[in-house]
Amino acid sequence: MSDVIRLLPDSVANQIAAGEVVQRPASAVKELLENAVDAESTEIRLIVKDAGKTLIQVIDNGKGMSETDARLCFERHATSKIRDSQDLFSIRTMGFRGEALASIASIAQVELKTRQDNEELGTEIQIEGSEVKSQNPCQCSKGTSVSVKNLFFNVPARRQFLKSDNVELKHISEEFYRVALVHPNLKFSFYHNEKCLHNLEPESFRERIISLFGDVYKKRLVPIEQAVSHVKISGFICKPEFAMKTKGEQYFFVNNRFIRHPYLNHAVSQAFSELIPEKSYPSYFIRFEIDPKNIDINIHPTKTEIKFLDEKLMYGVLLAAVKKSIGAYNLSPSLDFLTNPEFQPDILPKDYTPKTPTVRVNPNYNPFEKTNFSKKQTNQQAYLESFELLQKPIETSVQKQIEHTVEDDNTHFDSFQILNKYLVVDTRSDLLLVCQQRAHERILFEQVQKQLADRQPVSQQKLFPQSLDFSVTNAETLNEILPNLKDLGWDIESLGHHSFAVNATPYKVKESDVQSILETILENFKSGIMLNRNDKQTNLAISMASGMAIKSGIPLDKSAQKHLLTQLFACQIPQLSPKGKPVFSVFSEDEINSRLN
Ligand code: ADP
Ligand code: MG
Repeated sequence: MSDVIRLLPDSVANQIAAGEVVQRPASAVKELLENAVDAESTEIRLIVKDAGKTLIQVIDNGKGMSETDARLCFERHATSKIRDSQDLFSIRTMGFRGEALASIASIAQVELKTRQDNEELGTEIQIEGSEVKSQNPCQCSKGTSVSVKNLFFNVPARRQFLKSDNVELKHISEEFYRVALVHPNLKFSFYHNEKCLHNLEPESFRERIISLFGDVYKKRLVPIEQAVSHVKISGFICKPEFAMKTKGEQYFFVNNRFIRHPYLNHAVSQAFSELIPEKSYPSYFIRFEIDPKNIDINIHPTKTEIKFLDEKLMYGVLLAAVKKSIGAYNLSPSLDFLTNPEFQPDILPKDYTPKTPTVRVNPNYNPFEKTNFSKKQTNQQAYLESFELLQKPIETSVQKQIEHTVEDDNTHFDSFQILNKYLVVDTRSDLLLVCQQRAHERILFEQVQKQLADRQPVSQQKLFPQSLDFSVTNAETLNEILPNLKDLGWDIESLGHHSFAVNATPYKVKESDVQSILETILENFKSGIMLNRNDKQTNLAISMASGMAIKSGIPLDKSAQKHLLTQLFACQIPQLSPKGKPVFSVFSEDEINSRLN
């Protein structure tokens, strides 16, 4: 019998680890940049030749290493960042596994120069395939410079698998973005084959995004901000109209570390889902700050994946935060509604006397249509009452902004109705044309979604149940969604043979309208299924909103208009109907001017 088990030499173990840590030049770039950030540098230079195949050098002005540390840092599991397993739960630095330099040194020729601030001389080390070739004192500036030459020189198979310079350089740039983005307070520069690709001065996060991705982003970014007990979310999302056909710029950072997180990405997509075409992707730059004890970073060797202890909570918080920002951005045309005219600069000549506005006449008013008209008026009354049930708490950040500019509840905007279906709104800077039916659908849709989530329906009990008959297919559909309708305040009982008793409705609905409203809901629900529209709840919310909404053709008086508009601009996504159609169109002053030119 002979023993066969042998311990692997360190150089081999390191090479195996390198397989996990260093897949391509970009991986080495990532590790070196992260080390430079961890060393509290204020300026970091990245110099690359031939897409990193010949040279990757990172020069920092950080705290440097002592002579002993300069040697030790190439040992496996050599790290200054954790001391015991407890530290794993409070990691705030980029590295901690102590594998990167050891791995890189096992598959390349590495030269390290480093000097601490309080030392006169620094240390220079040459190491090749894990073997130290030399270590000498040297003159060098404060900080550390690591040069990685001829990556995979001793693993030809891996070198062969490297892609073209273009592709490898793209990966490197990506790693550079990930680090540079989230450390906008640091100076970064990036050279490839002696050409300067980026030279970044300390700036804000927003400015850093623009520096890296171009001035076009100035118009695209909308801030996102949300703080709940364990997590603070901040950063920017791009406006929906700039969604990209290919996966756009999608960045999550947790405690200043780039991460991938398909589940959270889904939350963002979900928030955008009604606003962007299928197969296009929203761009975002979102930062999370969270107590490290609520995350587990250690699940992936290159640490781009982390696990949150409460993923569902994070999902919910993020979804709400993104929706809020989208809503806030969409609210912007309404901002000017609310500026007090007192504050408006006087742009008219001093001696100008304004004309008294003429009284507006409803051009559709037909005195001979009296009965019809008053029927519409009662309808309107019922709808107005339904509005009352729709009061939504003011919560978006823009609304908070509004609160600062507005005293009391004075909303200063003027509107009038045309063609019995559009509201023309003067926002003082733009003119809005609002479709009343779609506006109401949007309002009801958000309200219904909330009710479905809260399961606290508001209901109007009927004195006597109303009995209704439906077609066979409608009766089938109605039976299917009865429990869901119950969550929305409908209390309907099946009496068999496609007959039903309606005991309660969500709003004050006139008895004579109940059947047609339910039929509209059912028709919408069925066509939603045919169109493969979203999930059942969303489909139901859309159907309910379509069924209950004020229709085109109903005259609305001033107070109804104001009510509708105020409700609309309190919505999260006011500018699209639940079926994805525009709710309003904005005519800017420029546009109006140019039409009259
Ligand atoms: P880790 O970053 O996981 O600790 P590394 O192999 O990347 O492991 O680095 C090992 C150690 O070397 C670090 O913990 C740090 O003490 C030291 N080090 C690496 N790079 C630098 C640098 N640029 N400046 C100062 N110290 C560094
Ligand atoms: Mg490291």
